[in-house]
Amino acid sequence: MTQKVVSMKTALVMGAGGFIGHHLVTRLKEEGFWVRGIDRKYPEFNPTTADEFVIADLRLPEQVDACFDRDVDEVFQLAAEMGGAGYIFTGENDFDIMSSSAMINLNVARSASRGSVGRLFYTSSACVYNQATQSDTEKYTCKESTAYPANPDSDYGWEKLFSERLFQAVSRNNHVPTRIGRLHNIFGPQGSWCCGREKAPAAICRKVAEAVDGGEIEVWGDGKQVRSFLYVDECLDGILRLMRSDCERPLNIGSDFPVSIRELAEMVISLSNKRLTIKTVSGPQGVRARSSDNDLIELQLGWRPTQPLQDGLEKTYAWISDQVRSSIESRQSA
Ligand code: NAD
Repeated sequence: MTQKVVSMKTALVMGAGGFIGHHLVTRLKEEGFWVRGIDRKYPEFNPTTADEFVIADLRLPEQVDACFDRDVDEVFQLAAEMGGAGYIFTGENDFDIMSSSAMINLNVARSASRGSVGRLFYTSSACVYNQATQSDTEKYTCKESTAYPANPDSDYGWEKLFSERLFQAVSRNNHVPTRIGRLHNIFGPQGSWCCGREKAPAAICRKVAEAVDGGEIEVWGDGKQVRSFLYVDECLDGILRLMRSDCERPLNIGSDFPVSIRELAEMVISLSNKRLTIKTVSGPQGVRARSSDNDLIELQLGWRPTQPLQDGLEKTYAWISDQVRSSIESRQSA
């Protein structure tokens, strides 16, 4: 009897030591892929499930070339200098953000076009959108077409826009089929929750977990700034659906359920069962209001995110409370 040999699909995940990259490796393993994770560091909170994990500095062309030494079905390029408002919007890290991420993307695009790559995915951001359309808390949804004329509010956004075009050019000229997702505020367990690179949901969960009952938490700005937040599992659903679709246009991967930062804080406080007041203080905020417009993704993929924000916040708050508790216990026992 002849036996059909089915070879395993292969994937490279650049940025596999980071928040979304680590979750993506786990998902690809569940799907049966052979996965090589690449990052300058291992995942912080849980061991990787990748078959191989390569520690590399993707700013260095020869290290990126070495990652493409075999045929690969799917490449996911997530590595970037990344952080929350305290990192992206102060202006203090602009050169590092632009130069490191641009070097990484140039190297990945060049090595992918020399190697044998089935398809490449690039994680862009909601920060590419024109800030002039996001100054109003009534009209702020980001349709994909409104990224031009370009006027992002941060150098992080300008670099993302440049790299979108870079990967589109590689797709056009060098025959590496590329898909691009513009991610909007992804959150969930196993993301940065302290020390400067955390984003709003994680920072608020940490502040609430640390606060004593009857106390207060601080939020940056007047609390009326608006965002939408997408739980990491649905973000992966969007990334993988877009990767395996025919859609060559950048698509939003985000929630279209907008909340103010105050409302977000109130939701987390209610999960904690503590009585806390919210104090607004000055701090970096980014644009006034922004939420994903999901008409195009629904049209192109027949899918849009639907999970309630509350469900993702419950899982994230539970995980961050545990992190806060263990960090207090280890400080006390030191
Ligand atoms: P993250 O910071 O957790 O992960 C990025 C990873 O890139 C890190 O592990 C980091 O070590 C790695 N990296 C950076 N420079 C490197 C280098 N020179 N060599 C090797 N590795 C390097 O960020 P994340 O939240 O997982 O985001 C993943 C991607 O999605 C990023 O490109 C980010 O810009 C994009 N994105 C994320 C969000 C979000 O809300 N999390 C929103 C929009 C876009």
